[in-house]
Formats: sequence, structure tokens, C-alpha cells
Amino acid sequence: MPEGISQEIRKASIRNAVNYGKARESTVLNAVLSKFPNMRPEIKQLSIEVSAEVTRVNGLSAGQLASEAEEYADEFEEERKEKVEKTAKPKMELEGATPGSFTTRFPPEPNGYMHIGHAKAAFMEKEFSKIYEGKINLYFDDTNPEAEKQEYVEAFKKDLQWLGISFDTEYYASDNIEQMYSYARSLIEKEKAYVCDCSPETVKEKRLVGIDCQHKNLLPTENLSRWEKMLAGNLPEAVLRYKGAINDQNTAMRDPTLFRIKAHEHYRQGRKYLVWPTYDFNTPVMDSLNGVTDVLRSKEYELRDQLYYELLKILGLRLPRVHSFARLEINDNITSKRKLKELISKNKLWGFDDPRLVTIAGLRRRGVQPQAIKDFVLRFGMSKTDSKVSLDMLLAENRKLIDGTSPRLFFVKDPVKIMVKGIPDSQRKIEIKSHPSGNLEHRKYNLSDIFFINAYDAFNLKDGDTIRLKDAFRIKIDKAGKETLEASYLSESVGDVLKVPWVNEGNCLKATALELGKLLTGDVFNEESMLAVEGFTESKALDIEEGSAVQFERMGFFKLDQKEKMVFIGI
Ligand SMILES: [Zn+2]
Repeated sequence: MPEGISQEIRKASIRNAVNYGKARESTVLNAVLSKFPNMRPEIKQLSIEVSAEVTRVNGLSAGQLASEAEEYADEFEEERKEKVEKTAKPKMELEGATPGSFTTRFPPEPNGYMHIGHAKAAFMEKEFSKIYEGKINLYFDDTNPEAEKQEYVEAFKKDLQWLGISFDTEYYASDNIEQMYSYARSLIEKEKAYVCDCSPETVKEKRLVGIDCQHKNLLPTENLSRWEKMLAGNLPEAVLRYKGAINDQNTAMRDPTLFRIKAHEHYRQGRKYLVWPTYDFNTPVMDSLNGVTDVLRSKEYELRDQLYYELLKILGLRLPRVHSFARLEINDNITSKRKLKELISKNKLWGFDDPRLVTIAGLRRRGVQPQAIKDFVLRFGMSKTDSKVSLDMLLAENRKLIDGTSPRLFFVKDPVKIMVKGIPDSQRKIEIKSHPSGNLEHRKYNLSDIFFINAYDAFNLKDGDTIRLKDAFRIKIDKAGKETLEASYLSESVGDVLKVPWVNEGNCLKATALELGKLLTGDVFNEESMLAVEGFTESKALDIEEGSAVQFERMGFFKLDQKEKMVFIGI
């Protein structure tokens, strides 16, 4: 037995004995075979060795076993950690949630495009609705007329549908404004809210010194009439504030604004309303009224949980449970709508669906599969540890999914012509595997004498060199050169020579491959985040459907973005 194998038998026997009290031959044998699969034909001899070692190890005293195990302590610890990492799936549990009586909601504000952070929330909520055999609502939190648009509502719905997330019901905060007004009145009557029309400067000054403004102690009747005035537009600076404590340790409880005036046309309600509830008011009310039992929010909102519960208690409304989790952020990328708009207006980005972005539209454009996004976001679970991760993690997840169905093709960058003489007729009809598995339809070409190879391959060739046109045959370079090369056919044989990607003149077409890099370097837009590589690919590319992926040898996966112009985007 080779030395390495005897060592492995010893180690596996000790490990097995340490973990289970006694070593078992079958377990040890399997462990050794998984390390040395080429020993399968020798299994008989191997079994004899394993049996002897297992007997020896099982005969050791506890002390002897421990001292032999000591030798492998570091290795065993590494293995254990690896195993834990591999099997550690986030716990998908919500405290207090009950199967069968569970409703959650996905609450986007239609003021921009859906991005990967939204997708995390939506997938988690959808997953919990399945785990707890309940429902999931789609709730548009649309009470800020200046920012919201129907276009964004449609975009959210399209993205959610593409991700495969469906909902039981759909509703809008802005359809319930009258009802929220009546809850506002109720708060005022209970002396829990007041209409304040102090200037923003006054509010700031008073907060600094911890003094209430004169409006806080007005009588409810007075506040009610001021509220009606506010609704009628006769108190142009007014807001309705929660009666908290100006010195509260929780800053979210320092008389937060519950309603404010927004004299702006609303995409859904037009000019019907002047006074709009804030997120802090409409969220708990809408959740409670719509049967939501469990709310997921990112932990940035934790300070506001107190207000969420207090408002519902005062209004006598049912209390959902609020659960917090960490927001997902992607390194070197942007989700801020303002910054994206700026880059789009400067023509640095194509739009909100630019394939460099982590908007859902951008990821879709890039050829990232919904399943990859789902697997990626769910791995973080309800953890509250900040997850700022690299986009590469998602792309790696995606590559695993598309590998099996993406045909391989050659792409030749900066093509240089190479004339090959002496190709036998038998070699002119060629069939090349489109996938290592052989499962995809082969590429079949009739070869002419003229080929193209990458400029960087061509530049390094000298007269007399032998290369192999990958998956075809060997050629000898007769005359190297920067413009055109001349070569002659050598043989079919495969061997230790440089293999170069190629296309044949009669079977190729012009194509552009857009190679994508990081969107930002530091905080600055990376001007080289998209590089257009011009070249030729094989005519087989004409069979690729727009939107599908291919793998260009040596370059990686690309999605066919525009078939007419043969533009591919790096995945
Ligand atoms: Zn005031």
C-alpha cells in the first residue's frame, strides 16, 4: 500500500473511533476511498488493511486513543469547522409565528426600481408564508406623492413576477386615506397627537433644549379644529405630531410626524388629498387592518418598533409581531436612486436596467437567473449581522445554474487571419462538442483554408511553431506575422501544444462581448466597468436565442443581449 494510503487509513480509523466510540470498517473504507478514488480496483487489498487497522484502533485504551488523535487535532478541527459551515443553514424561524394563522406582506414604496435588497425581503417573506402555511400580501406603501409613480408600481410587479413571487392580495396605502384621517382624529381626541405649525427652525431649537412647543398642550377640541383647518389647506406649514416625549431616550419617540402636507399630484389619487400619513403612521395601521400577523423589517427600523406598537395600542387595533433582520448590501455597487439617476443622466449607465447594477432589472439583463437570486438572498436568513457582500458570490451561484445548459463557443478577439494549406478533405467536415457533457447539439462546420485567431495568440507565434486549433487539428506556422499568418496542416493528434480558439472564415460572424467589472472603485464610478471587446464568433451563435447564455472559451459566460447586433454581456 502506498504510504499516503496507510496514513489515511490510520487517520480515518482514529477519527471514526473518536467520534463514535468505536471505528467501523465500512465507514473507514468509504472515507479512504473518497480520498483515493483510484484505489477502487484494489478494494480487496484495501479492506484487509482497513480491517487490521480498525482492529488495532478499537483495541486502544481511551488514553492511547486520545494521544494518537492528538496528532491530527488540527486537521480534525478544520474538518469539523468545514462541516459546520457547509451544513449551517440559516434558521428560518419567526418567534411566536403560528402555522396556519400567519400573514405577512412585502411593502415596497413605488419610488424607484426593485433591487437585490428588496428581493431579500420578498423572498424571505414568501418563504415564511410557505413555512407557516399562511399568506403573503403585496402592499404598496404610497403616501409620498412627490416620489411615487405608476411606472414604479408596474416595474415592481414585473420584477416580482419574474422572480416567481406571487401574492394572495394586493393593496395600496393611498386607497385608505379617509380611514387614516379618522384614526388621526381618534388620536387627537385621546390627546395623543397635536397639530404643530412651528417653523422647522423653531422645532429644531426647541428640541435642542428639550422644550415642548406651545401647540402640544392645546385642548383636543382646539387640536381637532386645527386638524380640519390643516386638511382644508388653511394651515400651510402644519404637521400632525405624535405626543411623545421630547427628551425620550428613543429618538424615534420625540414627537415624530404622523401626517404632513404634500401639495403634489399623486399618481393614483390625483389631487384628492393634501395631507398624507407618514410611513410611521400608515405602516402599523395598514398591517393591522389587513390581517398581517408577522412583519419583517430591516434592523434600521428597530427604534421605530416602539412607535409601531404604541400607535396600535392607543387606536385599539390588533398588534402584529415585528421581526428584524439585516439589510443586504452589495460591495462596490449602488442602489441609491439619486446616485443612479445622476449616472444615468451623465450617460455613464444605460438606465435602471444596466447590467452592472444590482437592480432586479439589471440582474435580469445580465442573465442572472431568479433561482440564483433566491438561493443567494436566502442564505443570510434572519441574521442581524450586517451582510455586505461581493456581487461575485451571486454570480458564482448563477454560473452553477447555467453551466449545464450554456453551449461553448469560440470568440476571437482582435482577429488575425491565418491561412492553412494542406487540410485533407476528411478534416474539412468538422463536428465539435458544444458542451463537455456532450448533451448539447454539436457544432458542425465545413472548413475553408482561412481561419482567424486572437491577436494576442498570433503575436507570440514564430516560424516553425506548432499549435493546435482547439478541438480541430494541429498546424505548423510557416510564416508568422502581425497581419496574416501562413500555416500548414500537420495532424489530428492531440498533445502538449498550445491550443488556440479560432473561427473559420466561412462560419463566423462579427460580435461584441461586453466585459463587466466593478461598478465602483472606492466611492467613484469605475470608467472601465464595461469594456466592449470586438471580434468574431462562430456562426452557430445564430442558433442562440436572445436572452440565453453561452460560454466563450477562455472568457467565461455571456448572455446574448441583442441578437441583431450580436451583442453579448458578461455574466
Ligand atoms: Zn408647534
